[in-house]
Amino acid sequence: MPLNVLIVDDSSVMRAMIIKTIRMSGLDLGDVYQAGNGKEGLDAARENWVDLVVADINMPIMNGEEMIDQMKADPELSALPTIVISTEGSATRIQRLEKKGVTFIHKPFTPEIIRDAIQDLTGITGIGDSDESGAF
Ligand SMILES: [Mg+2]
Repeated sequence: MPLNVLIVDDSSVMRAMIIKTIRMSGLDLGDVYQAGNGKEGLDAARENWVDLVVADINMPIMNGEEMIDQMKADPELSALPTIVISTEGSATRIQRLEKKGVTFIHKPFTPEIIRDAIQDLTGITGIGDSDESGAF
């Protein structure tokens, strides 16, 4: 079953790179939604059926941590699997995010790291064998 993903990052280049990396990981990608800050991300998560959120931390208007706090306070979004991809170096902040159930990935990242995080979070198996599943 394809996974609908929401990418929240203020850099359109980074959003494109994350989407490309997820595709390379072999994940069966469904609809891809994009948002440029936490507020737009919340709106997109509320307006669309999303299975996974991949978010940046440092963004204008509303940062990733504020967005995650608001998601956790919203019964409709509180259980939504969330990955944070950031250059964040503060161990305190990373631990705080992990306590909220978020998986933290440091930039730079590889398709394998993203794939493993998605598998752990969603319980989806068989990611990464797209060559096999595409063969007869
Ligand atoms: Mg940023």
